[in-house]
Amino acid sequence: WMYMKKIIVTGGAGFIGSAVIRYLLSLSETIEVVNVDKLTYAGNLQSLNDIRVSDNYQFVHADICDSAAMHKVFTEFEPDAVMHLAAESHVDRSIDGPAAFIHTNIIGTYTLLEVARQYWNDLSPAKRESFRFHHISTDEVYGDLANSGLLFTEATSYDPSSPYSASKASSDHLVRAWHRTYGLPVIITNCSNNYGPYHFPEKLIPLVILNAIEGKALPIYGNGEQIRDWLYVEDHAKALFTVVSTGEVGETYNIGGHNEKQNIEVVKTICHILDELVEEKPQGITKFAELITYVKDRPGHDLRYAIDASKIERELGWTPEETFESGIRKTVSWYLNNLQWCQAVQDGSYQRERLGVEK
Ligand code: NAD
Repeated sequence: WMYMKKIIVTGGAGFIGSAVIRYLLSLSETIEVVNVDKLTYAGNLQSLNDIRVSDNYQFVHADICDSAAMHKVFTEFEPDAVMHLAAESHVDRSIDGPAAFIHTNIIGTYTLLEVARQYWNDLSPAKRESFRFHHISTDEVYGDLANSGLLFTEATSYDPSSPYSASKASSDHLVRAWHRTYGLPVIITNCSNNYGPYHFPEKLIPLVILNAIEGKALPIYGNGEQIRDWLYVEDHAKALFTVVSTGEVGETYNIGGHNEKQNIEVVKTICHILDELVEEKPQGITKFAELITYVKDRPGHDLRYAIDASKIERELGWTPEETFESGIRKTVSWYLNNLQWCQAVQDGSYQRERLGVEK
């Protein structure tokens, strides 16, 4: 991995991207990172407060669909690898408005592939050999396991259900084609649901924690029996670096934490931890689980996702460090101790910086 000195991370102001950047910069003082992010509603530079002044870190405010801006980043920075995380990522938003998903996830990935291909073509033979284009994707491309009892492997056929997962599936296909047709040294990872610090409060786990402490309803889609396979975000960040630095070119690796849980179980676990940690309960309740409210299910909602992560474990030696129980405890505590970060997201002030108002 000593070849991996200069890395472009796209979407580095997002939930997983910011964890990846924190992890990369903690690994070695010789690693340099450029964070390319458009700062959509999901981009939050405050998630990078710890490392923003590091000499090894630069932020470029740009859209991955902007070919000229991407060329500039590649030619000026001369990366050894790209870790491509920038995407529209929220399934419900993709149902309400698919356009941004098609644009960023498909056109954006295509633009980045073309810029990377041109850059890679012009490299010296040794650098061409070691360059990596790492595309970060989701297990949702495989569709719904429903009651089959199976796990997703790298050989599972694609069968996406939502505009989000269909757009990610399209981008995965483009990345594979750029390898097969042009020889671009790509690697793809498909990961299960992540959770942990700095997760945008529209997603289930942070939403439940923050609603609960404010005494608001905890909305559960349908009967809450949908199963997701949860992975602590810092374990994902470590897996991604393992893959970009030691994975085989052209291969796909599934990443997961062996933590299949029904949504309702996740919410009840959070409620129990909050019962323990929060002494003063919101008015009118004695236990947080009293706030659970069932709401109309999401259209096309997949029942079950579950990952077989044996390939990355066997071939690259990665295994998750957190169990769901340890990771969710850390996560709940993090939210309780970082209400200022949450507040800035909830009142919209985190976006002021993007508009240049802060300074
Ligand atoms: P996120 O929504 O928190 O962050 C996405 C980031 O991309 C934001 O900072 C946003 O500003 C940026 N972005 C969006 N459009 C852009 C554009 N056109 N140009 C440049 N930047 C742009 O997402 P996340 O949860 O951190 O997910 C990151 C990646 O990992 C995505 O590709 C997602 O599909 C994948 N993934 C996520 C999960 C999960 O559970 N969150 C699981 C598996 C895979």
